[in-house]
Amino acid sequence: MLYICKMACKKIVIAVDGYAACGKSTLAKALAKKLNYIYVDSGAMYRTVTLYCLQNKVATDDAQAVEEVLPNIHITFQYDTDTDAAQTYLNGKNVERLIRSKQVSDTVSRVSVHKAVRHFLVQQQQAFGRNKGITMDGRDIGTVVFPDAELKIFVTANLAVRTQRRYEELQHKGIHMSEAEIAHNLQERDHIDSTRKESPLRQAKDAIVIDNSHLSRSEQLNLVLEMVADLVGSNCGVS
Ligand code: C5P
Repeated sequence: MLYICKMACKKIVIAVDGYAACGKSTLAKALAKKLNYIYVDSGAMYRTVTLYCLQNKVATDDAQAVEEVLPNIHITFQYDTDTDAAQTYLNGKNVERLIRSKQVSDTVSRVSVHKAVRHFLVQQQQAFGRNKGITMDGRDIGTVVFPDAELKIFVTANLAVRTQRRYEELQHKGIHMSEAEIAHNLQERDHIDSTRKESPLRQAKDAIVIDNSHLSRSEQLNLVLEMVADLVGSNCGVS
């Protein structure tokens, strides 16, 4: 089992990008835990802006209307020991469950196209990474948020695998969506996310592609930990 030193190693930035429900968060979260890094789910931030718009009846396709409410949106994360995961807060209220709802999933990609929304969130994301020692997953992390990240991973998996994984994850959270609805949502978001004008989903030129369709979580994690060990130096990666 690979072990990464938590104290003396140089800290790096790890960007994890890819299509919807490819296991990006699972990987980024596990890396952060293993390396004692901060983990940021950038998708949760886009989902939270979307939730605010839905709750306040802001026309999500109207770029100016969305831009005007951005100063009212304060997003924070808090670690929850019960679930062993970060919870997302909107203006001090835990919205972790609400941002995973079908309505938010169906709308988020249309909110994420707006330039002002991206600017608002990218600034906050870059501030999280100021001291390095961070893993962040999303769509534009290796291309726009952290173009100088020391390690960029681009995760892929086939649609059937992604649908099944998302179905199980939502079931576990008590959110009911059929497999057909999930597959449709994933395809639609991937299309909007990769064809939008503002920072579309792209594989960074220097990203390493991992197709995890047939990899277990631990196989994928160990693969990336070996890459990290190569980067942070031989003193830090010990098998
Ligand atoms: O990661 P997740 O699937 O929760 O992201 C939800 C949506 O947020 C994506 O489909 C995309 O529209 C948007 N997003 C983005 N840029 C990011 C992260 C997420 O546009 N860095």
